[in-house]
Amino acid sequence: MKTCLPRLMPLAAATALAFASIPSVHAATAARADNAFLSQADAAARAARVSNVDYALDFTLTGKETFSGRTTLTFDLKDTASPLTVDLDKATIRSLSVNGKTVAPQYNGWFITLAPQDLARGRNTVVVAYERPHSTNGEGLHRMIDPVDGRVYTYSHFEPAAAHQMFAVFDQPDLKATYQVTVSVPADWQVISTTREANVAPAGDLRRWAFARTKKLSPYNFSMHAGPYRMWEDTSGKYPMRLFARQSVAAQIKPAEWFRYTKAGLAFFDDYFGVPYQFEKYDQVLVPDFLYGAMENAAAITFAERGFMYKADMTAEQRARLASVIMHEMAHQWFGDLVTMQWWNGLWLNESFASFMGTLATAEATEFKDAWRAFYSEGKQHAYEQDQKPTTHPIEVPVPSTQNAFDNIDAITYSKGASTLMQLRHLLGADVFRKGVHNYLVKYQYRNAKLDDFIGSLGQAAGRDLTGWTKEWLYQPGVNTIAATYACKDGKIAGFTLDQSAASRAFATLREQRVQVAAFRLDGKEYKLERNIAVTYKGAKTAVPGMNGAACPDLVYPNYGDWGFVKVQLDPRSFDSARSHLAAVDDPLLRAMLWQSLWDGVRDGKLPLNDFLATALNNAPQEKDYTLLGDVLGKVVASKRYLDLMDPQAAYAQAATRQLEDMAWTATLANKGDDNFQRRWFGAYISLASSRDALDRLAAILDGKQTVDGLAINQDLRWAIIGRLNRYNYPGAAALVDAEQARDKSDTGQAAALAAVVSRPDPAVKTEWLGTVHDLQTKLPFSKVRTAMEHLYPAEQHALGEQTAAARLARLPQLDKAAGPVFMRAYGRALIPSGCTPASVKRLQAAAYNTDKDLLSAGTRRALLDALQEDQRCVVIRQAMTAQ
Ligand SMILES: [Zn+2]
Repeated sequence: MKTCLPRLMPLAAATALAFASIPSVHAATAARADNAFLSQADAAARAARVSNVDYALDFTLTGKETFSGRTTLTFDLKDTASPLTVDLDKATIRSLSVNGKTVAPQYNGWFITLAPQDLARGRNTVVVAYERPHSTNGEGLHRMIDPVDGRVYTYSHFEPAAAHQMFAVFDQPDLKATYQVTVSVPADWQVISTTREANVAPAGDLRRWAFARTKKLSPYNFSMHAGPYRMWEDTSGKYPMRLFARQSVAAQIKPAEWFRYTKAGLAFFDDYFGVPYQFEKYDQVLVPDFLYGAMENAAAITFAERGFMYKADMTAEQRARLASVIMHEMAHQWFGDLVTMQWWNGLWLNESFASFMGTLATAEATEFKDAWRAFYSEGKQHAYEQDQKPTTHPIEVPVPSTQNAFDNIDAITYSKGASTLMQLRHLLGADVFRKGVHNYLVKYQYRNAKLDDFIGSLGQAAGRDLTGWTKEWLYQPGVNTIAATYACKDGKIAGFTLDQSAASRAFATLREQRVQVAAFRLDGKEYKLERNIAVTYKGAKTAVPGMNGAACPDLVYPNYGDWGFVKVQLDPRSFDSARSHLAAVDDPLLRAMLWQSLWDGVRDGKLPLNDFLATALNNAPQEKDYTLLGDVLGKVVASKRYLDLMDPQAAYAQAATRQLEDMAWTATLANKGDDNFQRRWFGAYISLASSRDALDRLAAILDGKQTVDGLAINQDLRWAIIGRLNRYNYPGAAALVDAEQARDKSDTGQAAALAAVVSRPDPAVKTEWLGTVHDLQTKLPFSKVRTAMEHLYPAEQHALGEQTAAARLARLPQLDKAAGPVFMRAYGRALIPSGCTPASVKRLQAAAYNTDKDLLSAGTRRALLDALQEDQRCVVIRQAMTAQ
């Protein structure tokens, strides 16, 4: 799965704080608890009794709110000593038979309990007929009505444990099964599932699709999507490829690009893994209202359409993102679908590996040779941020129940894990690493595996015991810092050490790591590489004798090439060099790393934000690397956000905003003729515009009074401008939303209109929409509720936010109890109030530490602590400002 993490936004995803020990699996003889979740102990107990599972699934979908289904579940059972449960969420059961005998369902709305006397040792057959409403929150079998043409679309999404929102199932990853689907749907629908349809025949008003039985899969990797989807097909590669999207958005999809990257990826992975793709065909489906970025259902991958619709030619950034998400999900077809984690504590390895392999495939099989640099900026920085929070956690953590399965969907699970695998590849060597992966896939295919199995395969390939490495990296949280210490004598280095430190006593582990240490001399306008040495360091001090004799450097970077997962503290001379001669650094990765060092300085209160902005104003317009420009502009927009959080009316904030607006506008004009750069700069301009002059200019561009030479203002840009004007209550902005909504009836248009409306700085709007967010019975699909949450209180509107801040905090426990983890993750990220003042910090401290521990879920408590730390950081940045 691919999440959709916003660039440079504080990550406050929810993670279990307390790593409570898991009850022994042997203790699970007590009846399963009456709740919506499955504990690891209950799952393990069930897996010990059940095997050889097969599902025959029959569905009838008419497009109405409810669907009907019949599950024929066949399995071997070891004993009949106790009841057995089958998961099925909120269904109305029409009939239940066990081994041919009709029985009265013992059903609590979450799972059916089968009585021992109805079960047999050996083979059992359970048949459940039921009805159930489609879901509208993106899990189970989601249904959406297209506002443009009234067509109905459905798709399934099961990870982590939502298959039982669609059929009766042992909903746990280590009960792999085969699936045979038949489904009746309206005549103009397509049905996409794990295998291709074997037969389609009329069935009354409907058509009945029959699919071949699948190979063995975990329930969360099986899928079925149905609706009048538009289909594109390409059979030019080794495996047949298809792409699907809603009819009304078909013109915004670029199938040729999809097929090109997909074909390249399949060839790359077949070769890299040395195990051919197992699922015969490759279908990709763009779906609405999707909760995440994409999902690796075997051979029927789903993508959040909002990330992949284009109203103009694709920019290089959009292309790179498309390629990397395709590659991520494709890597999962082997690592995740073919070999699967046993339980949700293995989620990180699944996601880390896909993130790592997805980036490798993008770098090696597409035109985006700088994919690792994009990973450094977008993935790895989130991981560093997260790993420096008090709420960070080891990569490998216990997951007591399915309720906690996604507590760790965060940058540690995705990007730190991926960086760790990259470091391991440097440590063991690329060929050894690949051999270990190949052996692992061959050994565990169609089965489940654990961390030790994976590390064992790598260790065996390397002929090395990786126990110590595993302990340091996977079971201990926190990021270390390295710094270079050196002395110069007669113009040459005489004595060079790498100093490793840990953040605090709570995260005291020092680690073994292989990095490159590089020294540069400033020669006129250019830094010249003086020396570059690969070093494996461990412990607090590692001497690097290889640096002796090199010319005394102007700049030392001790993680050159980004092999290590480690924070770099520049020595004072190097820090000064970075600040004063950033543009003289030729290597874009090193330049990205130096920008990052400056930004780290801001976030740690060591470099005043205004100094950083001065550096940005001097250097960003000269940035000729497109990927790095995106990174730098992200930091600039984040800086503006800090200014807004502090006090958007302050003289310095207003002056700085004007300078930033001018910079972005001038660069937009200057980059005429280069569509990629021009669109990137204009996007930044919209994100920075807040002075009256800048808003006037946007309004004039919107109504055509002003044009930007070279730039077409498409529907997406129109909405971005309208959203910005509303957010600043520009005269006539409300009417602009109404008029635009009448012109653009698409789903994305509706979402953009909603975002524009809720962001208006009007207390009545805030009250109304906060009420809708808090109303858990609202008819609004969850994707719209989430849009409202995300746009309700922009940074500069904290005075309005203050009006409901205390009430929002007070409501957390009640909301936490009534809403599920999906809702609370979004709420925690968007609506926990911060104010960038000592008072707002104090208020969050009180909420985080004084609330009775049992009143909040672990995820929500973590969201509170993350918000607290982010608010404290903002106060530190404010105090470090030297001009205000
Ligand atoms: Zn993934």
